[in-house]
Amino acid sequence: MKNVKCKIKNVNVRPTGYCATAGLKDSMNNKFIQLSHGGGGKEMEALIADFFKILPRPVQWSGRDQDAASLNCGKRNLVFSTDSYIVEPLFFKGGDIGKLAICGTINDLAVRGAEPIGISLGLIIEEGFPQEKLNQVLRSIASVARREKTPVVTGDTKVVERGGVKGIVINTSGVGWAEKVIDNGGLCVGDQILVSGGIGEHAIALLAQRFNYGTLLKSDCQSILAEIRTVRKYLTACKDPTRGGVAAILHEMARKAKVKIVLNEEQVPIRKEVKAVTEILGLSVYELACEGRFICGVRPRFARQVLARLKKYNKKAALIGRVEKGKDVILQTRFGQRALPMPEGKLVPRIC
Ligand code: MG
Repeated sequence: MKNVKCKIKNVNVRPTGYCATAGLKDSMNNKFIQLSHGGGGKEMEALIADFFKILPRPVQWSGRDQDAASLNCGKRNLVFSTDSYIVEPLFFKGGDIGKLAICGTINDLAVRGAEPIGISLGLIIEEGFPQEKLNQVLRSIASVARREKTPVVTGDTKVVERGGVKGIVINTSGVGWAEKVIDNGGLCVGDQILVSGGIGEHAIALLAQRFNYGTLLKSDCQSILAEIRTVRKYLTACKDPTRGGVAAILHEMARKAKVKIVLNEEQVPIRKEVKAVTEILGLSVYELACEGRFICGVRPRFARQVLARLKKYNKKAALIGRVEKGKDVILQTRFGQRALPMPEGKLVPRIC
């Protein structure tokens, strides 16, 4: 048999229809998904807007662009949310992927004014993952499920070949009941803006661990259900600043309500360690994910009362801004005002 010499030249070795490299479009004008599409900023907003063009508009459900959708059932509303969790490292100071996954979905129901009644648990596990670690993740889920009286009522388990996922990926969905659904676009001119605690702690705790910075900082990962329960009747709007951080959610809240939000920089609670690591890494603290905080709007006459209630849970809860006529999000600093931009580009990946 003759030896066949094969010259490979100018061959496109990229599998058809898939582009793992940078660049949103190829020479044929095909678009490709980038990490930035999952970052919670401008690109993700645009991608989801594209989904909505393809998917049929729900007839009875509302709020598909909110943290959870709702279905009016007479005197109360069924509220439904889902989220997937990919995090590195899987175990971090203040939590692990299990705690993150159950708290995240409970929080998305809570910011809509709902009391969760049940949760689903979808696990995608990499072949070779230690069962003891899996049990540890499940024990974290069980502990939150018991405390928040939100049982895992259904689930699914898949195992993929080595490299298919990094360790474990979790999806949780949750349902709950709300007497009154809170809309994240409900801000009114004159409202005060409050935050339930220090910002950026989840992202910085994880990044510090990834880069081996010695810090005692813990992730803020926790359920915010109890805190919201004590103040929810006063809230005009509410949202948890997860991916995209405070900047992304304030932009969403301002855009939906057609108002301007003025954020008072000196009032925003930021721990020293968070400030230090953001400075080293050149990150904006306003773009970092929190996993146990919420931002809400309240009418001015209730602001002090709501703040006092929130401070019982977290001393760092604060009044951080106000709602004015206009549009956009403005940061009021010691030296004057500047625009707080909507995050864009590749934000910190795999943290929630
Ligand atoms: Mg959310």
